Amino acid sequence: MQFYIFMVVILWLKTYITQLSQFNLGVQGVLQHFLLLINPFGSTLLFLGIAFFSRKRKTFWLMIIYSLMSILLYANTVFYRSFSDFLTWPTIFSGKNLGDMGGSILALLEPYDFLFFIDVFVVLFLLKSKKLTITEKEIGRRKLIGIFSLALGMSFLNLAVAETDRPQLLTRGFDRNYIVKYLGLYNYIIYDAVESTRASAQRVLADSNDMTEVLNFTKSHFAEPNPEYFGIAEGLNVIYIHLESIEEFLIGYELHGEEVTPFLNSLVEDENTLYFENFFHQVGQGKTADAEFMMDNSLYGLPQGAAFMTKGRNTYHALPAILNQHGNYTSAVFHGNGGGFWNRLEIYKSFGYDYFFDANYFYMPEGELAEYGLNDKPFFKQSAYLLEQLPEPFYAKFITVTNHHPYKLDEELATIDKAETGDASVDGYFQTARYADEALEEFFQYLEESGLLDRTLIVMYGDHYAISENHNEAMAQILGKEEITDVDHVHRQRVPLFIRIPGIEGKTISKYAGQIDVQPTVLHLLGIDTSDYIHFGTDILSDEHVEIVPFRNGNFVSPDIFGIDGQYYDPITGTEILEEEILQQAEKIQLAVEYELSLSDQVVNGDLL
Ligand code: MN
Repeated sequence: MQFYIFMVVILWLKTYITQLSQFNLGVQGVLQHFLLLINPFGSTLLFLGIAFFSRKRKTFWLMIIYSLMSILLYANTVFYRSFSDFLTWPTIFSGKNLGDMGGSILALLEPYDFLFFIDVFVVLFLLKSKKLTITEKEIGRRKLIGIFSLALGMSFLNLAVAETDRPQLLTRGFDRNYIVKYLGLYNYIIYDAVESTRASAQRVLADSNDMTEVLNFTKSHFAEPNPEYFGIAEGLNVIYIHLESIEEFLIGYELHGEEVTPFLNSLVEDENTLYFENFFHQVGQGKTADAEFMMDNSLYGLPQGAAFMTKGRNTYHALPAILNQHGNYTSAVFHGNGGGFWNRLEIYKSFGYDYFFDANYFYMPEGELAEYGLNDKPFFKQSAYLLEQLPEPFYAKFITVTNHHPYKLDEELATIDKAETGDASVDGYFQTARYADEALEEFFQYLEESGLLDRTLIVMYGDHYAISENHNEAMAQILGKEEITDVDHVHRQRVPLFIRIPGIEGKTISKYAGQIDVQPTVLHLLGIDTSDYIHFGTDILSDEHVEIVPFRNGNFVSPDIFGIDGQYYDPITGTEILEEEILQQAEKIQLAVEYELSLSDQVVNGDLL
């Protein structure tokens, strides 16, 4: 027993010190530090306790488990030095990323690394010299139950406290760093094992009939391209700008008598820009990642969690790969945050991106850091140098971060006063949105001066809502309403979409559409036939585009009917629909929406592509 306790304490401390000093987990505040301290305790108790199930060779098994845990700890430390991310089981088994590390592995070792294993030798020495002993019969059933109750109790307590600080930690699973920060490295390893087993089980269970069903659906829903637009942007560079948390209501909105986003507003009137005023985000729990997933693949995100995290190794018909095959495009993503976030490093490879310029490629001064990376203005400025290295034609995606919840901005960067609702997120939102708008204007100036503007198709989209239902009271004040009803809330799921093409005639398009529709729309503008791809969206500019937009939770919007939690509403009056004839039609749409979502899930879960 004494030996076991000794081992638990040493491994606990070793793990804690490693988590604190070797990983960049962004631990903030007393609660998170406390969690980091206690989270290895429950798992070391538990895993080392497994040795007691062996009848005879308890000491031997204790040493084996102890060494394995030490090896996992060290392997993750070395991997993290290269990728700022943790090992996953698929990585270990396929050796894919490990191969990339290849020759550089020696360069990743540090002189102090022997410390990771010195304890193993100390313990062996203590055992040999009989300073520590374990009596094989000593562990009775009572003690065993005690140990495991304590271990599981600690783990559940840990999880419960973590959930209060970061709700939906396990179900959304946004970042491996978060799991390690809150639950510790060993629990992360278990979590990852469960997730990857589930993913591969879904893949194994898929069969060829699943694909036939999907093909029937996508073929019958294909929308013929509009000849007026097909190929109008052929051969141009493509730039996507991911406008973090920009809601559509901002366009044209005035606060304190000032426009909040004057630059975006000017683009609505721009002679070369199509503006889509009834464009909806369709994200689920994966939010930012879901938006990217839909924009690049025309596949829906998953009903739970983020496909980015769990489906990073699937095969995709993604935009960068299609553009590479049909126009020899070079593709790159620019993002001033760590590449491991949302598992981007891995899934971007599956999408076919050639380059991913993450935080490692940017100079990140202390004063220019937003909650999720480098502020937009320096981000765009520094990106320009990298962009100039790309051979044309290119497809480049820029992911902004400053206008991110909780919408805080340094006072000296703010150029508009906050709103005055008393709700900190809502009030600050206008300052960060204004900042994002100015950053965008600067980037456009660069594009113009460099000549790129004349040979580039630019797509700009809001990724998802910014202000959740919890802030309805403040939003009612902002929108000058008495209250925000469920129907109002659904109206508020609009995000802006701009498509700028040099030389075309700009206008505002009122068709209902969603993020799922952008990929086929853009491909048709570039003159690429999409009829052979599995896409769930349709070309918005096509006459055959159907104006029904499914939300990830099964709700839907269309110009005449909103479906919200199984009830149907008139979008204009906001009243419930009672006429039998329209109700029947609404129910039909509801079923079609659910069918479409389930087919998309079938493709993603079964890795059917
Ligand atoms: Mn986002």
